Amino acid sequence: MRILVTGGAGFIGSNFVHYLLDHTDDDIVTFDNLTYAGSLDNLGDALDNPRHEFIEGDICDTELVEDAVSTVDAVVNFAAESHVDRSIEGSKPFIRTNVEGTQTLLDAAIEADLERFLQVSTDEVYGEIAEGSFSEDDPLNPRNPYAASKAAADLLVNSYYVTHGLPVVTTRSSNNFGPRQDPEKLIPKFILNAANGDTLPVYGDGTNVREWTYVMDNCRAIDLVLRDGDVGEVYNIGSGHEMTNLEVTRRILDILGKPHDLITFVEDRPGHDQRYALDASKVRSLGWEPMHDFDDALRTTVEYYLDR
Ligand code: NAD
Repeated sequence: MRILVTGGAGFIGSNFVHYLLDHTDDDIVTFDNLTYAGSLDNLGDALDNPRHEFIEGDICDTELVEDAVSTVDAVVNFAAESHVDRSIEGSKPFIRTNVEGTQTLLDAAIEADLERFLQVSTDEVYGEIAEGSFSEDDPLNPRNPYAASKAAADLLVNSYYVTHGLPVVTTRSSNNFGPRQDPEKLIPKFILNAANGDTLPVYGDGTNVREWTYVMDNCRAIDLVLRDGDVGEVYNIGSGHEMTNLEVTRRILDILGKPHDLITFVEDRPGHDQRYALDASKVRSLGWEPMHDFDDALRTTVEYYLDR
C-alpha cells in the first residue's frame, strides 16, 4: 500500500511513519508544512529510506493536496494545530487547519480511488467525564476551541462517508507521550525544566486526570484500524492508565532524582477539563492492547529528551 501521512513531521505522525517503515512494506508519503510543531529531525533516517517521500505542503493547499492524494491508496490525517493553550489564545489557525484542511483532504479523497481515509481524532471531542468512560456512541461535547475544531472535523469525515461513500475510519486516542513531542507539551516540558533545575508549573491544583498512552501503542492501534477497522466506524484508543497531572509530574522528578519542591501551582487553564477516560473495548476486540508499561515508557521518554 502507498500511504499519505499528513502531519508526519509532528509528534505522533513521525512515530507512525517510523512504525510503518519498520513493521510493514508500505510506501509512505509524508505531507507536512513544518509548523513550529513539525521537524525534519523527527523523520531522521526515514528521509533516506527509498520507501519514503517527503512533501512540504499545507493541507489547505487544494492543488498540492489533490496531486498528493491522487498517488496513494490511503490517507492518514494527523495534520493539526494541536495545543489547547494556543487555541485559547487564538482559534483561527485551528479552524483553518483542523477543519478547512480536513475538508480539503476529504474533497481530494472523493476524487481519488482510496482504500481508506483515516482521521486521527482525540478523546477531547467527548469533553470531560467525572466517572466511567466514553464509548464511541457518546455525544460529542468539546469544551475548548481545539477540541471543537477536532469535533467539527470528525463530523465532516462522517458526512463524507454517508454522503459520498468515502471509506473512512476514525481513531480517538487519549493523551500520548513519548519521543519527538514538541517541548511545549506537559511531559517533554517538565522533563526539560526538571533537568535544568527550573520550576514545573502545574495548572490549578494538579488534580486533572488524563489517560496516558505511549505513542507507539497508539501507532500500532492506528495501523490496525487502518487495515482491519470497519468503514464508517470510530475507534477509541486508550491504555486505561489514568493519572493526575500532579502524579505524572512527581514521577518525572523521581526518575530524574529531582526534589518535588520544583513543582509550582499556577493559575488554571480556562475551561480546563477535569478528567478524560475512554472505553477502548472496540479497538481491543480487533486484537489491540497496550504493550508498554507506563513507568518503563516514561523512563524511555525521559532518556530521549535528556539525549537531546
Ligand atoms: P503535533 O502538533 O506534534 O504535530 C502536528 C503536525 O501537523 C506538525 O508536524 C505540523 O507541522 C503539521 N501541520 C500543522 N498544520 C498543518 C497544515 N496546515 N498542513 C500540513 N501540516 C500541518 O501534533 P500531535 O500531537 O502529533 O497530534 C497529531 C494528531 O493526533 C492531531 O490530529 C491531534 O489532534 C491528534 N491527537 C493528539 C494527541 C496527543 O496527545 N498528542 C492525543 C489525541 C489525538
